[in-house]
Amino acid sequence: MSERLIKCPLCKSGNILNHLLVKDHAVSKKEFTLCRCGDCELLFTNPRPTEEEIGPYYDFKEYYSHEDQVRSFTQWLYQKIRKSSIQRKVGLINGLVKNGSLLDYGCGTGEFLQEAKRQQWTVRGIEPSEKARTQAIGKLTTEVLETLAEVPELEAYDVVTLFHVLEHIHSLRKTVKKIASHLKSNGYLVIAVPNPESADAKHYSKDWAGYDVPRHLYHFSEKSMATFQSEFGMELVRIEPLFYDSYYVSLLSEGYKNPKAGMLTRYLNAFLEGYRSNQKAGKPGKYSSNIFIFKKK
Ligand SMILES: [Zn+2]
Repeated sequence: MSERLIKCPLCKSGNILNHLLVKDHAVSKKEFTLCRCGDCELLFTNPRPTEEEIGPYYDFKEYYSHEDQVRSFTQWLYQKIRKSSIQRKVGLINGLVKNGSLLDYGCGTGEFLQEAKRQQWTVRGIEPSEKARTQAIGKLTTEVLETLAEVPELEAYDVVTLFHVLEHIHSLRKTVKKIASHLKSNGYLVIAVPNPESADAKHYSKDWAGYDVPRHLYHFSEKSMATFQSEFGMELVRIEPLFYDSYYVSLLSEGYKNPKAGMLTRYLNAFLEGYRSNQKAGKPGKYSSNIFIFKKK
């Protein structure tokens, strides 16, 4: 029982068209259709599994049990990138506010919050996945909650972060409005998302790992993010690139595009495409993934 959207989940326009057929390479091997909003350019999986039935699509058990050398190395690389990105993220919020309060929506296993707390931030994390949340609670105790609804009504934050999370949220408008209600006026909303208009996305097209259907429900162009800011009373402060994502996404995409290729070929092609994508990007907003920093009006 999947759900079919008849309006754009971001701007509510009815002007939507089929755009691209994409396979879930990582888990189910099923195909999903991406629709495109003719008004705000948002790409979205449609029809899509409902919130209740999407769980199994996050079940990577089978994926891990069949993992080969390439996949375990890819996981290792992912962990490396994640560690260095934690320092970068904390550096980013330190540049916005000093010793403020932080809400990380989709905090995963909590490493970013743990580091922010170490650097004098008052922290709160939301994580719906029970497994990840248990690990986050192990690091942070009572600061981690399952849902936004559990956050006390009047609790407001200086900074709210969503790192590669916005594209997973079923009730997009409702959730963002709720998040915005927990942001102080002049507080910052920091959102990292993959870019469906990046050079690597165009190069790999239907095999681009950034699509990651059906787990990624949406793909935001720069125009979609401009719509985002006007829909939710935000003002774009600046955009920052995520340089490593093009390499990681290209490595996964190479595997989807040519599963029989040897490890060396895959790495070489991924490195070249990752590098090419970053070179072609030239300015923030054009990279494989980007961080949008908004201020609440
Ligand atoms: Zn739209």
